Amino acid sequence: MKAIPQRSRRKTCRWCGKRLLSERHPHTETMCFVKNERSIRSKMRPKVKRISDVYEGGKLRSAFVGSNMEDILLKRQQQKGLDAVLGLGANGYKVPRNVSHMIAQGFVWTQVANQRPWAVYVFTPKGKRRKRFNNLYDAVEFHARITRLGLKGGIVSLPRSYELPPEWRLRKAKLPKRFKWCPNCADFRTFHRVDPAQRFEAPIKVWSEEKQRFEWRNRMIWLTECQVCGNTNRSPVFRRANQPYEVRKIKAGVRRVKPRKGAPTRKVRRKRL
Ligand SMILES: [Zn+2]
Ligand SMILES: [Zn+2]
Repeated sequence: MKAIPQRSRRKTCRWCGKRLLSERHPHTETMCFVKNERSIRSKMRPKVKRISDVYEGGKLRSAFVGSNMEDILLKRQQQKGLDAVLGLGANGYKVPRNVSHMIAQGFVWTQVANQRPWAVYVFTPKGKRRKRFNNLYDAVEFHARITRLGLKGGIVSLPRSYELPPEWRLRKAKLPKRFKWCPNCADFRTFHRVDPAQRFEAPIKVWSEEKQRFEWRNRMIWLTECQVCGNTNRSPVFRRANQPYEVRKIKAGVRRVKPRKGAPTRKVRRKRL
């Protein structure tokens, strides 16, 4: 009768190869994974040749989540954007200013977690059309092509909204009233009422003659949408950006400035990466 071999207990760490519970590895295997998760995931991830190998069904494959592939993709987005600004603005075509604004804001995880986070909306004689792109270079190249054909259109960021940069607030004040900051176009666009007309309640900033300052009041307002991308005035980034701008004087010695009563509070989300 043969002796049944006993399952030997693992002596070395599966992640780093050091001897478990030794001086150099006083913690458990699980703890080792938690501590070195990113480098472990980076070593284990598959090797790829083309950008399409990284995505499945338009989303980042789980094998790359939490690995150095995310950093590689973020850097690639940045590089492709810069290439577009430096290389495509020629022969009478000007790269739209929202492109350099988007690049200056940096890139975030949702923009690499989706295979095609950019879109170009085109106004054709048959109506509005949308084409999605993986990076800003491809989007700008397409935009240049439609511009040469005499068509109008705009480059839009689909998964991410952009705040109105503080240095553009004065520029907005000079524009006609129908121009609003569109967070997804990252530029000023005209907004029209949706059809059929619809209203919703939201806090807006109104000037109080009596108090000689702005106040937040709840009002029923018309639902409007961006004429290029269709983003509505309901989005919190839109609401923040398109209120009257004021400079508040803070007395010397004041450490914490309270927001005005009734002002919408901003949710602080935990950053990924
Ligand atoms: Zn280990
Ligand atoms: Zn828009």
